[in-house]
Amino acid sequence: MSGLLTGRLLAAIHFAAQKHRDQRRKGAEQAPYINHPIEVVEFMWRVGAVREEIPLLAAILHDTVEDTDTTPEEIEQHFGTQVRQVVMEVTDDKSLPKIRRKQLQVEHAPVISRYAKLVKLADKISNLRTMLESPPLGWNESRLAEYILWGEQVVAGLRGVNEGLEQEYDSLLARAKSTFSL
Ligand code: ZN
Repeated sequence: MSGLLTGRLLAAIHFAAQKHRDQRRKGAEQAPYINHPIEVVEFMWRVGAVREEIPLLAAILHDTVEDTDTTPEEIEQHFGTQVRQVVMEVTDDKSLPKIRRKQLQVEHAPVISRYAKLVKLADKISNLRTMLESPPLGWNESRLAEYILWGEQVVAGLRGVNEGLEQEYDSLLARAKSTFSL
C-alpha cells in the first residue's frame, strides 16, 4: 500500500472518529460508534481483499452524513467527488419514514455502483454480526428476525461484486437463522 493511501485512510478514520465522537452503538455494551465503520473497512480489506481507495475511504465515512452533522460538501472537500458519490449512494434519506427507507434500500441495492455495493455488503455483515453478538437493547426475537430477513433482501441485490464478502455474509446468515429459528 502506498504511503499516500495510508495517509488518506488515516485522515478518514480521524475525520469519522471526530464526527461520531458522541455516539454509541445500540447494544448492551454501548460500544463507541466508530467501532462500526472501522469494522466495515476492516472486513472489506481482509475478507473482501478490496484494495481500491474510493470504496475503502467511503466505508470509513459511510455513516457520517446519515448519522452526524457532516454534509456531502464536507466529504467532497476532504476526500473528493467520487468518495462523496459513494457515501451518498449508501446514505438513507432521513426525512422519509423508516419503513419507506427500508423499502428503498431493497430497491436501490441492485442499481447502485459497484463501489457502493462493496460498502453496503460489508456494512450488512457488520450489522448482522452485531445482531448476533450484541443486539440492540430492547429488541425482542421477532424484531431481530424481521431485521435479519430484511437484510437478506437487501444483500440479494448486492450479490456478484465480491465472493469473499458474500461468503462471510452467508455463513453469518446461516448462524443467525439457526439462532432465531428462521
Ligand atoms: Zn453502517
